[in-house]
Amino acid sequence: MTATVLVLNAGSSSLKWDLFAAPALTSLKSGVVERIGEEGGVPDHAAALAAVLDELGEDRPAVVGHRIVHGGRSFSGPALLDEAAVAEVERLVPLAPLHNPAALAGVRAVAERLPDVPQVGAFDTAFHQTMPEAAARYALPAWCEAEHGVRRYGFHGTSHQYVSRVAGEFLRETAGRSPAELKLVTLHLGNGCSAAAVSGGVCVDTSMGLTPLEGLVMGTRTGDLDPAAVTYLQRSAGLSAEEMDRLLNRESGLKGLCGDNDVRRVLQRAADGDADAELALDVYCRRIRKYVGAYAAALGRLDGVVFTAGVGENAAEIRRRVCEPLAGFGIALDAAANARRSKEVRRLDAGGPVAVLVVPTDEEGEIARQAWGLAGVG
Ligand code: AMP
Repeated sequence: MTATVLVLNAGSSSLKWDLFAAPALTSLKSGVVERIGEEGGVPDHAAALAAVLDELGEDRPAVVGHRIVHGGRSFSGPALLDEAAVAEVERLVPLAPLHNPAALAGVRAVAERLPDVPQVGAFDTAFHQTMPEAAARYALPAWCEAEHGVRRYGFHGTSHQYVSRVAGEFLRETAGRSPAELKLVTLHLGNGCSAAAVSGGVCVDTSMGLTPLEGLVMGTRTGDLDPAAVTYLQRSAGLSAEEMDRLLNRESGLKGLCGDNDVRRVLQRAADGDADAELALDVYCRRIRKYVGAYAAALGRLDGVVFTAGVGENAAEIRRRVCEPLAGFGIALDAAANARRSKEVRRLDAGGPVAVLVVPTDEEGEIARQAWGLAGVG
């Protein structure tokens, strides 16, 4: 029987799973258990895992890889989830109060049901731990960092790592470029959105910070904001910390600007002449362009821009609105290439100095690769 890798992505009320055949790590099957702890669902993550294992039948995985949102400064790559690593993920719970406990529940459920199977954590923050201190630090008094861990960690790291590596391989094969020399800006545009500056495969800056709220405008999150707006609104609108948290994370972004957070719907409304939707798209794309410019400056040169995730891979109109005003910086789209729909890695520029690529992301596949590589069970 072929060895398999099970990848688990545990949310507070859902457990997504993907099974891969090693060593090629081709996807075999996948699914999701929803409504964990809710009416009509299973009671807890242990029961959710039991349902996944039932589905797998005889197919016991050789290794389990977990997506873990916050690895703090402790994890700069995937890690075997031994007792010390689990304790460290637990210690980081205050930085990711919804996400890390769910991942830990998944880890404990696997340890109980499959005690001999090695477990590996892949962290959303890990790829960004190479950021220079100057990119990771906020200009706050040092005690905020030393005593409370307030610094920039970055997220979506698994996706930025995967698409920057694949973009490097693609440009080596198709354009003879050396991946070690490439300076890329990767744009993960999905429900959450983030940008990363990647030099020779190493992350040197990213737009999300202490939490996944900083940076680009997202479906329901503000991204960058004058921090004084928070204290000002707390006072003038009488919002509590919890209400403020909700406003910034769930009621802002595209949704706050125009009432819709799905980019497909916002694009349709803008095409129909809706002024709020048009403004929302302008704010969204302008922020992306500002980050492309900022990261070109941080990198010292720009060789490529990589679009990924639901919006980046599928929304030609967003790519057009981002790239067209940047033509003066050598970022020129080929309209036909941009309009073509495909699931493949592809190049969209008109042969200018800056390659524009779409690389469909594969976070689960990357987690499987990291877990298989680390567990050494092959
Ligand atoms: P993700 O988080 O990567 O799954 O991305 C989800 C988001 O991608 C959705 O909220 C949509 O806004 C967006 N999306 C998916 N397909 C399209 C499309 N064809 N055009 C525009 N946006 C899309």
